[in-house]
Amino acid sequence: MFNFRTLEDLGDVRGKNVIVATNFDVPIENEEVLETYRVKAAVPTIKNLIERGARVILVSHLGRPNGPEDNMSLMPVRFELGKHLNMHIKFAHLQNCRNSIIFMEDGEVLLLENMRFYKEELSKDEGERQNLIKELASLAYGFVNDAFASYRPSASTYDLALAVENRAAGTLMVKEVEKLTQLREAPVKPYVAVIGGAKLDTKIDILRSLVGKADTILIGGAMAYTFMKASGCPVGNSKIDEDMLQTAKEILEKAKQEKTEILLPVDHICTAEFKADAERVEVDSQNIPDGLIGMDIGERTLANYSQIIQSAKTILWNGPMGVFEWKGFERGTEAIGEYIGLSASEDAYKIAGGGDTIVAMEKLKINMKNFAHVSTGGGAMLAFLAGEELPVLQPLIK
Ligand code: AMP
Repeated sequence: MFNFRTLEDLGDVRGKNVIVATNFDVPIENEEVLETYRVKAAVPTIKNLIERGARVILVSHLGRPNGPEDNMSLMPVRFELGKHLNMHIKFAHLQNCRNSIIFMEDGEVLLLENMRFYKEELSKDEGERQNLIKELASLAYGFVNDAFASYRPSASTYDLALAVENRAAGTLMVKEVEKLTQLREAPVKPYVAVIGGAKLDTKIDILRSLVGKADTILIGGAMAYTFMKASGCPVGNSKIDEDMLQTAKEILEKAKQEKTEILLPVDHICTAEFKADAERVEVDSQNIPDGLIGMDIGERTLANYSQIIQSAKTILWNGPMGVFEWKGFERGTEAIGEYIGLSASEDAYKIAGGGDTIVAMEKLKINMKNFAHVSTGGGAMLAFLAGEELPVLQPLIK
């Protein structure tokens, strides 16, 4: 178990500068934050510190900019966060933040612009990374990492932690690790994992680690078609990952040996073209005819999956079951979210997580209160559950 240094271990923070690493890498459209969950999740740590009179400096990244790009500014997050904290949030760029920090008052919050505007943030050269955060570190009394979702070490999540002596894990970080450790170390059986989405390569490690651990893995989303093709089933023009066919085969093979059942969709909602207003075609067989694209799982698949979810005592959900962003193809994702939240046993340990899963839950109004925990981490959650060591956690341990 992780024995973290906590916010309380920072001691008296009144009048002192405390840097908090957060993950505000949220989808933004027309300067509006589309996923507010991550922003709200950062509030408890910030509140704790401002109520104790600290001057809070937030660092985060957004997207993958090539240098400063207007459409990747954290400005919309500044206003969204301001709403949840009910206060004005100050804003500055790292390169000229010195005065903004010096003139802060106790209990104020300053958000620094997207750290990835500086290429050094992700540099492989340790010296470059340390140089980027040197001045900021010299102004700080404390550093808190609350950015569970930013699990790949960077200047602002790793080097900054090492450069500031008083450091701690934030409330969200502690909660994420605690809730996910319970799932990783002691899942009560039957353990059912529902894995969907498109990017199979990002889910291979967790799938591998679930084989032998989970009793059943229910697969949906575009990655289901790669598994179907790997098991010899026609998939029409569905989006598949050719490079992953061999890996998918190996996973199916290993699952047979380890007695983990992997279930694939047995019927589908398809279209002839991959576009939002394409006509829905219900395909009532596992085989998808030539010319059609699988867009969502069908009703028989949902009935199968629902039965298994109902008897589970531990449920992990990551990834949408279909193209939930488009009307007509959201039913699979919505129904799975509701089965887990409402039809599964109340005492089952239910964990959901990942960027797209949260966006889907918010959009489809799936009640997060019915889950033991909704993780802000996508890749981070999967890496942690697969047993990967996360170096960003090391500096936060007592
Ligand atoms: P991921 O980031 O891997 O969890 O993938 C999420 C994305 O998968 C969402 O944007 C979905 O629209 C997409 N997706 C889910 N099902 C399908 C499908 N059948 N065909 C294409 N994309 C899909």
